[in-house]
Amino acid sequence: MFFFDPLYFVFALPALLLALYAQMKVQSAYNKWLQVPNRRGWSGMDTARYLLSANQLGDVGVKGIPGKLTDHYDPRDRTLHLSQDVANGRSVASLAIVAHEIGHAVQDSTNYAPLKMRGAIVPAVQVGSWVGPLMFLLGFLLRSPAIAWLGVILFGVTFVFALITLPVELNASTRALAMLRENNVVANSEEASAAKDVLSAAALTYIAALAQSLMTLLYYVFLLTGSSRRR
Ligand SMILES: [Zn+2]
Repeated sequence: MFFFDPLYFVFALPALLLALYAQMKVQSAYNKWLQVPNRRGWSGMDTARYLLSANQLGDVGVKGIPGKLTDHYDPRDRTLHLSQDVANGRSVASLAIVAHEIGHAVQDSTNYAPLKMRGAIVPAVQVGSWVGPLMFLLGFLLRSPAIAWLGVILFGVTFVFALITLPVELNASTRALAMLRENNVVANSEEASAAKDVLSAAALTYIAALAQSLMTLLYYVFLLTGSSRRR
């Protein structure tokens, strides 16, 4: 009854609720500030160009991409990928999100260690996130703790990823708020706190992801140590 273990929900539910709450906060902060035009009347594209050159990153590309809240900076092509609403909109939300992504571009150009580490373990995460649970299950079926523990270790890479993501994201937001203020992109304290509102909600989603990853890992460990105790 490995698949329908009610114990799994004891481990997973609190983190899942936190993740849902964080998603709700992001959606509401985003939708709220997307409706509020920024005082400068700048689009996300304008903001991106301005802040990139202010950071001596004029060579970083800016591209529009489909979707909602799909905005990201990709270190592989050194390009900001901005969703349509953020790129073309002239809202306060656009300012915050663009500045956050430029925060990542600055991290990249200054070789910010957590960003580099996170990039380096991506391939391991891609494998570990699905091979880990499979090996864990296999270890259980074959009654081989060694295989199951190997699965736990492989899956553990996703926890390490979520852990490194936290400083990367918080640091990008700190840089974002500082560059918005220092370059007078936010016109007043109201706009500054709106930007903070959007970025803090986003930060909570990464905390929730870390909690989810940790609780799943602990569940695996609990199953393994619990089963060996029963034997
Ligand atoms: Zn980010």
